[in-house]
Amino acid sequence: MKSATAVINTAALTHNIEVIRQFTGDSQIWVMVKANAYGHGMTEIVHHLPHNITGLGVARIDEALKLRAHSVVKPILLLEGYFSLDELVVVARSGFQTVIHSMQQITLLEQFEGQYRAEGLPPIQVWLKIDTGMHRLGFRPEEVQTAIERISRCRSVANPLHFMSHFSCADERDNDYTQQQLDIFSQLTRDCLGIRSIAASSGCFNWPASIYDAVRPGISVYGISPMNEISGRELGLRPVMTMISSLIAVRDGKKGESIGYGATWTLQSDTKLGVVAMGYGDGYPRCAPSGTPVLVNGRRVPLLGRVSMDMFIVDLGINSLDCVGDEVILWGEDLPVEEVSRAIGTIGYELVTNLTSRVKYIYSERKNRE
Ligand SMILES: *Cc1c(COP(=O)(O)O)cnc(C)c1O
Repeated sequence: MKSATAVINTAALTHNIEVIRQFTGDSQIWVMVKANAYGHGMTEIVHHLPHNITGLGVARIDEALKLRAHSVVKPILLLEGYFSLDELVVVARSGFQTVIHSMQQITLLEQFEGQYRAEGLPPIQVWLKIDTGMHRLGFRPEEVQTAIERISRCRSVANPLHFMSHFSCADERDNDYTQQQLDIFSQLTRDCLGIRSIAASSGCFNWPASIYDAVRPGISVYGISPMNEISGRELGLRPVMTMISSLIAVRDGKKGESIGYGATWTLQSDTKLGVVAMGYGDGYPRCAPSGTPVLVNGRRVPLLGRVSMDMFIVDLGINSLDCVGDEVILWGEDLPVEEVSRAIGTIGYELVTNLTSRVKYIYSERKNRE
C-alpha cells in the first residue's frame, strides 16, 4: 500500500527550463533551489538540472554548504548573504557568491579585510541588492551610492559588482507597480558593468523588460505557475512533482452522519467514503476546506470534513467502484497544484514546500504525456 509519496519527474525539469528560456533568450538562468528545492529534494534535483543553467540560488548558508557536500560545482548564490564574520569566512573560503543587502553586511566585509589578505583567498562575487519597492531586503535608492563606494574599497570583493532586486507584484500582469520598480532599477544600474538581475518566475513570464542579464526562476522550474489563477500547464510547463497516496479504507456513509474531527461535515445523502493516507503529518494543510479537489481513478472528488494527521476523508459518490489500495493524486499531473492551492486559499509554492520528512520520494525520468 502506497503512503504519501512525491513522484518527481526529472525530465520535466529540462522541459521547464527550455520553456523559461523561450521567454528569457540568452540571459543567464540561476535556478532557485532553496527550501529543499521547493520541497522537491534539493540534492537530487541539482543533479538532474540541465548543464546549461548558470548557477543555483539558496537562501541560507547551510543550504549552500549542503550543496557543496554533495559535490555541486555550479556557482552558488546566497540570496540573503551572511550575518556574521564567521559566515563571511565560510562564504570566502567556499567560493560562494553572495547578495549584500545591508550596511551591516558591508561593515562585516570591512572587518574581514585583514584576514582575507592573510589567507590569500580569491575575491568574492557580490550582488548588491537594491530595494526598488518590495521593502523587505536591500539598499534604499538613496543609499546605493554609499554602499557601492564602501564595497569598492574592499579588496575581498571581485570587480565588477553585480546588481539585483526583487519584484513585489510581478504576478499581477496589469499592476504598474512593477514598471515603477523596473524604472528605479534601470536608472540606478545604468552604469553598472556587472550582471543585472531582477526577474524571478513571474518576471520571466509577464515582464519582458525585466529579463536583463540573469533571471532567477524558482517555482516555474518545478512546473508550477507563479500566478495562482493561471496554471503551469497554460504556460507550457509540466509539473515536476506528482503527490500521490492511496485509499486505505472505502466505507459506507449514511445520510445525516457527520464526518471526522469536530463533526464539521454532515452527509446530505448516502454515499461511499474513501479514506486517503495523507494528512497534515505529511504536509497536507489541516485548513483545507471541504470541497478541496482530490483525484481518485481519474475523477475529481471532494475532501470532506477536517484533515487529520495521517489521513482525510473524500466523498467517492454512491456509484463508486473504487477499492482499498487505489492510487490517489493530491496534486501534480492531471490535478494542477494551483487548482488545489486556490481551493485551500494558499499558493502552490506553500503546498510543495511544506511536505514533511515522512513523505517518500521517488525520482524517475519519465517523459510526460502531452
Ligand atoms: C525565491 C526567490 C526567487 C524565485 O522566485 P520564484 O517566484 O519561485 O520564481 C528569486 N529571487 C529571490 C531573491 C528569491 O528569494
